[in-house]
Amino acid sequence: AGSSTQAPLDASLMTTELTKSPRAVPEPESPEVLAQKTCTDHMVTAKWTVESGWEAPELKPYGAFSIMPTASVLHYATECFEGLKLYRGNDRKLRLFRVSRNCERMRKSAARIALPDFDPRELEKLIKALCARDGAKWLPKDRPGFLYLRPTMIATDAALGVQRPKEALLYIILACFPDMSKSLGAPAPPALNGTVNGDGHAKPASSGLKLLASNEDSVRAWPGGFGFAKVGANYGPSLVAQGEARARGFDQVLWLFGSECYVTEAGASNFFVVWRNKETGRLELVTAPLEERIILEGVTRASVLQLAKQRLAKSIEGIEAVDVVEKRFVMDDIISAYKDGRLVEAFAAGTAFFIAPVGHIHFRGKEIQVPTEEGESGVYTRVIKQWLMDIMYGPEEHEWGVVV
Ligand code: PMP
Repeated sequence: AGSSTQAPLDASLMTTELTKSPRAVPEPESPEVLAQKTCTDHMVTAKWTVESGWEAPELKPYGAFSIMPTASVLHYATECFEGLKLYRGNDRKLRLFRVSRNCERMRKSAARIALPDFDPRELEKLIKALCARDGAKWLPKDRPGFLYLRPTMIATDAALGVQRPKEALLYIILACFPDMSKSLGAPAPPALNGTVNGDGHAKPASSGLKLLASNEDSVRAWPGGFGFAKVGANYGPSLVAQGEARARGFDQVLWLFGSECYVTEAGASNFFVVWRNKETGRLELVTAPLEERIILEGVTRASVLQLAKQRLAKSIEGIEAVDVVEKRFVMDDIISAYKDGRLVEAFAAGTAFFIAPVGHIHFRGKEIQVPTEEGESGVYTRVIKQWLMDIMYGPEEHEWGVVV
């Protein structure tokens, strides 16, 4: 009721107040960048109330804002967010990668957690406005790299009642972010008993992500839940398992679901495996399907699937063709592929770690060594990563690379 009188989110109404105390840009690998603490000079905010809808967005100096101790988000996790990067291209241009997809996903996440609706194209304009304001300074032209955008929405109602939010704040911040792909390879996990003995592997993995498969007492998402939404409520409860995995020398948790041990995602990334199908004898690039809504529909995931379907349907440059499939698969499928020598590669795909080869999976006391090429990544992981990088950094002109 009353929604017809609510003002829509409108980027053209944005006001601008520039900072009077611009800050120095930190060095790429400096401690403050590694700690992920530094944001650029400005941020964008927009307030919403149930009575009047969206107020004019504001671009203003980055800094603290105040909310009441009773604010809905602090009690009921009424929050959703997005994560994407702003890239400095080889041609010095600034690009976003498929930003419209992040904006659409944020709208879906907001709906799942009772936060207000908005036109995703308006969010995209606000994101671009912040990038245009701070990108040039914070991504110096002589320094290839990226910044990380974090569009966020929180419910700010100053009332403890458990109900749909009546007030919300949308904000967009742009942060300095370390190159996670450089920091991969936690110390080797301790030697473990019960190693699965694969055969037919010429090259054992010597690098790549080390994944610890989750236990049944730590479930990331379930049918009817909210695993498909990028809501904070998915991440806080994963930190105990992630912390335990790190303490044991693993990089990420491989999230399994159900007593069958369905393989879902790896940390905050989607998970892909390349294996030879036992029945067809053909190579397959496989990832978990979206139907049950327990998987986050990664922008990287969608892009990997599309590029692989377009470019790997036939063999190229001596690389065998692969069938690209979204289907349920279980840990036992990986183990039997490994034992038969049919396991070819595995990788995690997401904004933060990008395309990261997986070298090692630990599951219930067993070790799976995923083959890698030259101790690096496998050939499929390598070509897919290169194709995406070429779009993000500009060598390949493509509609997914959105120049700001
Ligand atoms: N799964 C989860 C749980 C994530 O948090 C992310 C990061 N957004 C991904 C997958 C990868 O999504 P994207 O490729 O859009 O970064």
